[in-house]
Amino acid sequence: MRALCSMNTTETGDPEHGSSPHVTVAVQTVGCKLNQAESEALAREFLDAGFKVVAPNKRPDVYILNTCTVTHIADRKCRQYLRSFHRTNPNSLVVAMGCYVDRSESDVRVEGVDITISNMDKDRVVEIVQNQLDPKRYLNINDCSTLDDPFRTRAMTKIQDGCSHSCSYCIVPFVRGPEHSIPMKTVLDEIEAQADNGCQEIVLTGTRIGTYEGRIEELIRRILKETSIPRIRLSSLQPEELSPFLIGLWENNDRVCRHIHLALQSGSQSVLERMNRAYTIVEYEAAVKTVRDAMPDIAVTTDIIVGFPGETDEEFQESLEFCKKVGFAGMHIFPYSARNGTKAADMPNKVADKVKKARSQIMLDLATQSARGFCQRFQGETMQVLWEERKGKNLWIGHTGNYIKVYTKTDEFLENCLSNVRLGTEYEQGLWGEIITAPNTVRLPGKGVWQQ
Ligand code: SF4
Repeated sequence: MRALCSMNTTETGDPEHGSSPHVTVAVQTVGCKLNQAESEALAREFLDAGFKVVAPNKRPDVYILNTCTVTHIADRKCRQYLRSFHRTNPNSLVVAMGCYVDRSESDVRVEGVDITISNMDKDRVVEIVQNQLDPKRYLNINDCSTLDDPFRTRAMTKIQDGCSHSCSYCIVPFVRGPEHSIPMKTVLDEIEAQADNGCQEIVLTGTRIGTYEGRIEELIRRILKETSIPRIRLSSLQPEELSPFLIGLWENNDRVCRHIHLALQSGSQSVLERMNRAYTIVEYEAAVKTVRDAMPDIAVTTDIIVGFPGETDEEFQESLEFCKKVGFAGMHIFPYSARNGTKAADMPNKVADKVKKARSQIMLDLATQSARGFCQRFQGETMQVLWEERKGKNLWIGHTGNYIKVYTKTDEFLENCLSNVRLGTEYEQGLWGEIITAPNTVRLPGKGVWQQ
């Protein structure tokens, strides 16, 4: 189970519809980091093919929605996006692609959707769109100059897809098929290209990156040795994938961010068994202890499902107590959502919606408290921050390697800079920071060097 979140759509150049010789395209994502990685790669393909990538609210000629179907909430969100795309610009070409299409193409065919593309054809999206565009309505898309890559600060790099496990609640193996890895050379070349383009951090993404060619350690070793990317972040791992070699690499190299996402799903052993997860509570706890012994500053984040079929009050309490004991730096809470075709959908003793809602709130309160506790541990420390976005005139927001959100105010332009920051008082969902190295420590695109 993966977190639901929307990708930041990005615009480049002049966004006004009709005033440019480029066909404009917006790529919007619902779903996990893997979907985000695919959307970013797709936006780059569109740029290479001469399209102009803009935000969805700029009335683009082509709307692409990379869908998710992991819960009924994701389904609903996708349908809402598709309808609103069509309403905003009825002349646009509306494309739905990805997991929801694979699960139920008829559901996705809401009013205004012109094309549906399954996961199997995701690498042909640009070609399919080009074939559909009416040449009389759109100008020559090959007659364009090179455009900037809008995904420079943190890039999602897809290294793997699919899952060969069968957690009883999960639709992902049905829509993404069995595990398969992207060849190592392709991944290394892509990461080096990102680094050359000025990207400061890559996030290795996939459905189960820990299964990468059966040797995720080797991939990380080679990224560290053969690319110049400053920061590497791993997305989700499972306890059994944490080999001593991987932990050793991690521990001895500051370029690998001190952040591990270990999806727990439930802190109750009996619920875990019904979920058919591949580890026990004891194994999970031992994995957390091992990474924390090696890297005490590491952020351990997780996903939790509440209201799984048959979850009793006692089991929920066990789950809550276990989460308290672990003390996560971040938790994504999902009320259980039945997916037809999965084993859990046919399990008895479904939990009532209002009970799920109440349990979600209790878990969310714990998540807030626990994340706050994690941040407070680092007040007064100096850590490296990657500055990512500006709000208003001069409020900057970035993240440390262990994913603490940091805020500062300055008139300097900080986007895509890494700087050392002294962490101070609590501010919104993170900490206020004082920059203590020159904020113009910028990695120049194409140079592979640091410039002061
Ligand atoms: S490991 Fe389980 S939850 Fe994760 S994708 Fe595979 S089946 Fe789904």
